[in-house]
Amino acid sequence: MVKIFIDPGHGGTDSGAVGSGLQEKNLTLQIAKKMQQLLLTYENVQVRLSRETDKTMSLRQRTDMANNWNADFLISVHINAGGGTGFETFIYPGVGGVTKRNQDILHAEVMKELDGVRDRGKKRADFFMLRESKMDAILTENLFIDNSGDVAKLKQASILNKIAQGHVNGVVKAYGLRKKAVAKPAPSPTPKPAPTKPTPTQPDKGGSALMDKAIVIGGFPDFASAEMLAARLKAPIYTRAALPNGKIAKELYVVGGSASGLQADKIISLTGKDRFEVAAAVAEFLNR
Ligand SMILES: [Zn+2]
Repeated sequence: MVKIFIDPGHGGTDSGAVGSGLQEKNLTLQIAKKMQQLLLTYENVQVRLSRETDKTMSLRQRTDMANNWNADFLISVHINAGGGTGFETFIYPGVGGVTKRNQDILHAEVMKELDGVRDRGKKRADFFMLRESKMDAILTENLFIDNSGDVAKLKQASILNKIAQGHVNGVVKAYGLRKKAVAKPAPSPTPKPAPTKPTPTQPDKGGSALMDKAIVIGGFPDFASAEMLAARLKAPIYTRAALPNGKIAKELYVVGGSASGLQADKIISLTGKDRFEVAAAVAEFLNR
């Protein structure tokens, strides 16, 4: 298990550098949260942020947090200011080994994501976050808040995401992280937003045999529920409009809406006065 500590620079009463309506503390938090989200799609990694909100924190509180947690790697994320452009990274003077290697990797990965951004180099500085943290640590300065070209980039969520992606690619490479297997969505009776269109399975083109089961959705359908039911019954879903004329199945499951006019040996009505009641009726049926 690798423990990655991400420190979004500044926060609360300390806004960090400001310019053109942007505040460093907000940009660093956005980048850090994106990093966390991306990193958690990998196996064997734990992520902790020094702050997840716009909160005032001393540098000592931040390094204490990382030290007490026994983080393996600390990344302090900042936005630059003071006249300049581009990206640069810092590690503590005199350190080598893993810290230097991580800087080399992470720096290169961020530069890959930030096409056309000036590479200001891999540097060393006696910064508090680097000095007082016990683990390998890096501080990154991501573009300048007082440079119009850089500001235009910092105003784009897609660029902030790329900055985050570059950092994460660096961590993934440095620690050999592997992507989690994509989890199957767990069946849940909670109604979900409906997909734009249900996907009815077309009836057998041979057309001769009557299906055992089919699902008809109408009224206030809950598509997620209908899909769960379809998976359980191994039955196709039809909208009322797409339902072929005549009898198509022995058992017809009606998810939402009225069953009137439908033909089947058995009609199971799972309906209600709104989408949530329909979802509840389906959930109850599935749990029987
Ligand atoms: Zn800063």
